[in-house]
Amino acid sequence: MEKKTPLVLKEKDPPSSNPLCNIQLAQKWPTLSPFELAYTELEQDEMFSYLAPQKIPECINGALSFGKLAATSYQYDGNLGYWMDRVIHTGVRVSFLRRQKDHDGWVRAQYRTKPAVIEIYRASLEQLETFFKQEGFTVKEEDLIALHLFHEWFHHLESTRLGRTDGRLPRVVKKKWGPIEIRERLTRLREIAAHAFTQEVMRLSWYPLWLDHLLLYTDKGWSKEQIRDHFQQVSRRCEEWQPSSTTQSDSTE
Ligand SMILES: [Zn+2]
Repeated sequence: MEKKTPLVLKEKDPPSSNPLCNIQLAQKWPTLSPFELAYTELEQDEMFSYLAPQKIPECINGALSFGKLAATSYQYDGNLGYWMDRVIHTGVRVSFLRRQKDHDGWVRAQYRTKPAVIEIYRASLEQLETFFKQEGFTVKEEDLIALHLFHEWFHHLESTRLGRTDGRLPRVVKKKWGPIEIRERLTRLREIAAHAFTQEVMRLSWYPLWLDHLLLYTDKGWSKEQIRDHFQQVSRRCEEWQPSSTTQSDSTE
């Protein structure tokens, strides 16, 4: 099924390239639900140990919904130029940087304030392109840029219009002295919402954090089986927080 591209042409965007939303990566790799992926993100939060377990679903579902809702009036249809223009008109600069891999993994892109700037790392774009190519997919470079752009733009919208995701959801009580409580935000909720926003705007069938996981583990040299085992452990860890009872139906497939 894999198409070979002719050697003579090295077009920037070959005609055979697929929109990212059409790429059926889930047929080739083990998956996790958005909730489960979001759980792995929340677990990394510095304040996670202070979070009452029964609040986990409220936090995760709240952040996922907030990101999705923020995407309501936006739809990316492959026209990156149009979206770049729109993003820039919201008062943020976009720049592409060349930087090598960080010691603790890949920094794909980031959003900085004062002045507002979205920085996208070329190394991340190249890594994604290589990964998809290995899987037999040629993806549009524009879509890979958009994948980074929308995530970071969500953070810009949080800072300028929407308010921070972690300010709208439960905070944790870090310390308590009598009636005095020190409360802290769960900042990772912002990431959970940003991924949901990106998925929705780009109409992706998968939650973008999934791709980060696949890249991280394949980069470490893990086999598909090891990734599957790891994902099963994640599923088990958050089993009780993602009750199938919400739908009250038998599980399908
Ligand atoms: Zn982010």
